Amino acid sequence: MDKTSNGRRKFMKSSLAGVGLLSLPQLVYGSAEQSGKKKIVVVGGHPDDPECGTGGTVPLLIKAGHEVTLLYFTNGDEGIEDKTHEEAAAIRKKECEAACKILGAKPLFFNQIDGESVINNLEMARFQKLLWAEKPHVVFCHWPIDSHKDHQLSSVLTMQAWMEAPVPFALYFYEVCMGYQSFLFHPTDYVDISETQALKWKALACHASQKIIGADGKYTQMMHDCGHPSMEDFRGKELGVQAAEAFIRMTGRGMGKLIL
Ligand SMILES: [Zn+2]
Repeated sequence: MDKTSNGRRKFMKSSLAGVGLLSLPQLVYGSAEQSGKKKIVVVGGHPDDPECGTGGTVPLLIKAGHEVTLLYFTNGDEGIEDKTHEEAAAIRKKECEAACKILGAKPLFFNQIDGESVINNLEMARFQKLLWAEKPHVVFCHWPIDSHKDHQLSSVLTMQAWMEAPVPFALYFYEVCMGYQSFLFHPTDYVDISETQALKWKALACHASQKIIGADGKYTQMMHDCGHPSMEDFRGKELGVQAAEAFIRMTGRGMGKLIL
């Protein structure tokens, strides 16, 4: 072991990077002045998915001084009754743009078709090119054990992009509709979203095309009906706060040495 002061400094720097700098709460609750400005990308299967899984965390990251992009895998083309794919996609893209504006994020579209998503080598290369062009330090995507194929495939593509990335980035999985869509989700990291939960739901309200008649006979939003409020409440109880979002941190590829 190098016992010079220079060697000790190097050891301390790499140790601190391994212990602390991959911590999501540190990134969220610290400031870009301390950690350097980071680029964060959230990948979601459909319009509203990135907001559902990370809509409370994103404004905290932006408040800390980081840049966030929401990358929509499909345009939610199947998501509006009585509309063609083209009509629905146009409406839902506008809803994404409005939601991103409220959160302070940038929207980005991969333009696959809702319900007809595919993975092949061409799509993998196209996805990698789009994601890597963002030069992300941290990426969030769906937990892959999910009931919806679009969620699964967007997650697999993101994992492939993570494994082959020329410049490594940290990867976190988020959950949607706990117990109904994301299965076997055991969080490694939590973010207290008590102060941003209202803003998250304001952004989700931009997805006005996703209103359905709820169990009480009143119009409600699909993401409300599938249990997101109780998910935030439950994760909040686990963390000991009013509301929280939960994540699973990917390990491997020497992530412990990745300096965020
Ligand atoms: Zn979805």
